[in-house]
Amino acid sequence: MSRPVLLVTGGSRGIGAAICVMAAQRGYDVAVNYQSAAKAAAEVVAACEAAGAKAVALQGDMAVQDDIARVFADAQAALGPLTHVVNNAGITGPASKLAQADPQTIRTCIDVNVTGAILVAREATRALLANPDAQGRAQGRAIVNISSIAAGLGAPDEFVWYAASKGAIDSLTLGMAKELAPVGIRVNAVAPGMTETEIHALSSGEPGRVARIAPTIPLRRAAQPEEVAEVVLFALSEAASYVVGSILRVGGGR
Ligand code: NAP
Repeated sequence: MSRPVLLVTGGSRGIGAAICVMAAQRGYDVAVNYQSAAKAAAEVVAACEAAGAKAVALQGDMAVQDDIARVFADAQAALGPLTHVVNNAGITGPASKLAQADPQTIRTCIDVNVTGAILVAREATRALLANPDAQGRAQGRAIVNISSIAAGLGAPDEFVWYAASKGAIDSLTLGMAKELAPVGIRVNAVAPGMTETEIHALSSGEPGRVARIAPTIPLRRAAQPEEVAEVVLFALSEAASYVVGSILRVGGGR
């Protein structure tokens, strides 16, 4: 049987990188998209190859349609037809109250997290539908969109625009799931809570954010990226064969 082929957007660092490496360890070949961190993406590819997978790093801005189309085409040229996609690339922009937010911060976040994610979802749908079986179905294929528990919390005083962008991901997931389940493609979202990645220092601009918020989480700590990746791998797998349109919270009780 041929190996499943997974594309992860934003696979060079953080949660996306953990998903890529865990997927390789579980028998997927992996396309690792990144925007600018070429060295980090190369390290993820090396880790995937060390686990016995074929892997490729593909640069592309997932807010730009031409880049999205090129990354999907190059992934399939390198690894064969895609069977699974994780729609993970996301940013917050510098934290502030809404009144103080730069309009460009809001626009850029929505460009990547909403418009880009919907365009990636569109491309993923087209790729997964491209090689149906004899019954015209794409059985066994799956898409996971990465949301956030912020969609339900609202992220007041930090980045309400980001919370709103993830609310859009939840709606996108519900619609895609109902549209694609009849042809055999399962779509779900995973909504992480606070996870130890560079998003807090590099995207939100507050290196101490995890330490500040961790005591308010019922589990009293942030997640490790692998704890989120584990749930994503479940949602991609046949172990989740009847899980469709679910928003799987990985929030430590928050
Ligand atoms: P991260 O450590 O900052 O990594 C972000 C990844 O996305 C990097 O690989 C980055 O590429 C890529 N990326 C960003 N903008 C991109 C673009 N326009 N095109 C292509 N790639 C892009 O972030 P993370 O914490 O792992 O977050 C991953 C996802 O989880 C996001 O959707 C985020 O909203 C969500 N999430 C995170 C948390 C958390 O606490 N960490 C909680 C809830 C939800 P480069 O390396 O090239 O920059």
